[in-house]
Amino acid sequence: MQNYFKKHLFAIFSIITFIIVTIPLYFVNECPTPAGVSEYTDDETLSKGQKESVKTPFIINGDLSDFKTQDPFRPVYDNFTISQRQNQGLSTALPKIEPYYHEKTVYLTFDDGPNDDIEIAILDILKQEQVKATFFLLGNKLHDYPDVVKRIYNENHAIGNHSYTHIYEKLYDSPGSYIKELQQADDIFKEILGVRPLITRAPGGIVGNFTDEYWLELERLGYIEVGWNISSGDASDGTAEDLIDNIIHQLDNFPILQDHAIILMHSSPGHEETIKALPQIIKILKERGFAFGVITPSTPPAWENKKS
Ligand SMILES: [Zn+2]
Repeated sequence: MQNYFKKHLFAIFSIITFIIVTIPLYFVNECPTPAGVSEYTDDETLSKGQKESVKTPFIINGDLSDFKTQDPFRPVYDNFTISQRQNQGLSTALPKIEPYYHEKTVYLTFDDGPNDDIEIAILDILKQEQVKATFFLLGNKLHDYPDVVKRIYNENHAIGNHSYTHIYEKLYDSPGSYIKELQQADDIFKEILGVRPLITRAPGGIVGNFTDEYWLELERLGYIEVGWNISSGDASDGTAEDLIDNIIHQLDNFPILQDHAIILMHSSPGHEETIKALPQIIKILKERGFAFGVITPSTPPAWENKKS
């Protein structure tokens, strides 16, 4: 018997080595991404060429308090809804995030979609011009145009939550009713996209609508409210020329806009003049050397100055 082992020692040794080496490899490949670690590569580990080619959204998988990425060209979403976070004991509040100030960054934003008319035309222009933008969408329209919502996401524009109904009397009845609408919309974003936005924009803006309690609730739940600092004026009856003039006039008169110009436009039905003006608006901004960012938690607040 001893001789038998001696004779086959090499074969037995080989089999044991094979098992030791291959079984752990199998488990390594099968391991899911650990909770709290983004499935996407951290930007700091990428070379410049790779950074430029990165187009995919950054998806937060763990505690929101761990969030720290600061890339103005990469949309950010959450893998969980607020209630899922609460049920799993994951934090909802975001840490203090350093704002991204960089000379000549513009953020095109479009409110009140989705639809399959104006929104599609805007997406086609953005694709043609190879620039990114941010869309603040309404929860109660998402189910009508899921393909448009997916297209916005897949073309790596950012998506924000613009409430469920957009009805001021309902929304601004109390902080609770406002948050309820955000969460109603979140559930549908999650259903269609598998993720939900962190960024929100209050219909009609915050002025006269928000009290301190609204801000406290948003902060507690990790929502980032996003304003604007350039109004295209497309909510009034302006022509395409008027919209272009409005934007140029504001750009020329407010130095703060040079490092974070956040332009408000609308993508709801009836905004044909916005479509007409958009190629020219993009051309002017490109000529002035602006880079086109998407809104993220690190976008500077609309009217805040860079702290020196
Ligand atoms: Zn709106």
